[in-house]
Amino acid sequence: MIQRLIFFGLIIFSFQYASSQDIRIGLYHKFDVKTLVFKPLHGAYYLENDQGYKEKIKGNDVIYITLVGNQISIWGIEKHMGLSHRIAITPKRSNSMYSLEPAFPALKKHRYEGHLEISIHPEDKLTIINQIAFEKYVASVVEAESGTRAREEYYKSQSIISRTYALNHIDRHENENFNLCDDVHCQVYKGVQTENKAIRTAVEATKGLVITDENRQLITAAFHSNSGGFTVNSEDVWSAAMPYLRGKKDPYWADQHNSLWSDTIALADWVQFMDRIGIKLPENYYPNVLFRFNQPTRQRNMTVAGQLVPLKHVRNEFKLKSTFFSITPEKDKLIIKGRGYGHGVGLSQEGAMKMARMGKTYEEIIDFYYYNVNLMNIDSTTYLTRLLSQ
Ligand SMILES: [Zn+2]
Repeated sequence: MIQRLIFFGLIIFSFQYASSQDIRIGLYHKFDVKTLVFKPLHGAYYLENDQGYKEKIKGNDVIYITLVGNQISIWGIEKHMGLSHRIAITPKRSNSMYSLEPAFPALKKHRYEGHLEISIHPEDKLTIINQIAFEKYVASVVEAESGTRAREEYYKSQSIISRTYALNHIDRHENENFNLCDDVHCQVYKGVQTENKAIRTAVEATKGLVITDENRQLITAAFHSNSGGFTVNSEDVWSAAMPYLRGKKDPYWADQHNSLWSDTIALADWVQFMDRIGIKLPENYYPNVLFRFNQPTRQRNMTVAGQLVPLKHVRNEFKLKSTFFSITPEKDKLIIKGRGYGHGVGLSQEGAMKMARMGKTYEEIIDFYYYNVNLMNIDSTTYLTRLLSQ
């Protein structure tokens, strides 16, 4: 309990002035990284371990960090820098940058700013934590989520969504000593990317802004790629009905990359799937009649021989882009024609991009996709009191 209080104490301290404070991100979280290569790119760093060792790292240094048994071993280019259980690498100046590249397993190299902390994860791998200014984190997530070719008003809406999401899930990795991981489990974070100017401007212009519901609580700012023309009630995808995540007609869905799609399913695979989910098929039937399905507006289920088949099960099983599809049987296969990409709840990214191209503001975009919400600075929300009362 005391530990929990201290933890929340730290978070409240960190986020009282959220936009100018730091967030801790678990890097390469879904992998079991055992060897990591650190290289300074700009500026000098101090490396310290929990055994009192301290060393300056600069220029052409390369640091190899390896998990050996229950200790972390550090090697410079030609010298061993001790065994320990925890190391910290701190920039001498704030505009410093370094690269990290897991060597075992071999993974993609990324560049990062801020502080780095490495310890031993209970699951026999390195815990790699990047502590970085919160708003820089938001900018990186926005770029990872939506690329560099959208309009500034779109980036503003995505900045507010990513910020709201991060703060709403700030205790998600409490047990691992960081706030959020860098994977789709939380939000994809790839460190320093192109440092796109429109994204930087959008994040700065919306600094500290979050989306709240009518009780001034942070919302679950769900989003997806393309709605196919209708967004979806939250309870149709997850169990909870959120008053601000209501399905509605979306006129901005058409003529985008993910507006329309098609796929095929082998009839044999489909019949096997029916059997697996307990759908009883008549002894003699025409697939052409029994499996034909059309949904002019979004539905949750299709009916096969009088039994309900949830469309989200079909989507999961056959890895379809959305649940908004029709089925036309043709000989030994089913032709699937679909609309939209993703779960359909909340904001459509392609719709929001189109709205921005049409000259709509980020307020109009957020107001269109989330029902009855407010935009406010994080300091005005009930966020801090909610944390205190836990
Ligand atoms: Zn996570």
